[in-house]
Amino acid sequence: MSVTGLPPYDPQNIFARILRGEIPCKKVHEDEFALAFHDINPLAPTHVLVIPKGPYVSAADFHAGATTEEIAGFWRAVGAVAKSLGLEQPGHRLITNMGPHSGQEVPHFHVHILGGRPLGRMLT
Ligand code: C5P
Repeated sequence: MSVTGLPPYDPQNIFARILRGEIPCKKVHEDEFALAFHDINPLAPTHVLVIPKGPYVSAADFHAGATTEEIAGFWRAVGAVAKSLGLEQPGHRLITNMGPHSGQEVPHFHVHILGGRPLGRMLT
């Protein structure tokens, strides 16, 4: 079982299939540690997902199981993607859903980068 109570990592989940190139995506960045692509159902003018290359169900699993190099490489990629999309200024939002209460749909750790307009306060 994963840290957040979800089932163990499923190598057939949709993001695993995107990583293997079995399903297309609108890629914005790829390196040794991460892949970033546009969300198919954008909730802001810019809505990009960043996923690690390794098999982690959620952020908790990633931080518990990945190497320091993977963790640093992944989060550096998140920052580089936000910068390359022109979101450093005037700002953006990073979200990661973890487990059933969060409404996480895809059981492969991912960070949402949202920006391109004032996003308001996040209440839910
Ligand atoms: O955090 P959560 O798991 O709910 O978000 C999953 C996200 O993955 C959704 O925003 C959905 O639009 C996106 N998605 C995607 N491409 C797919 C399947 C889901 O961008 N093929």
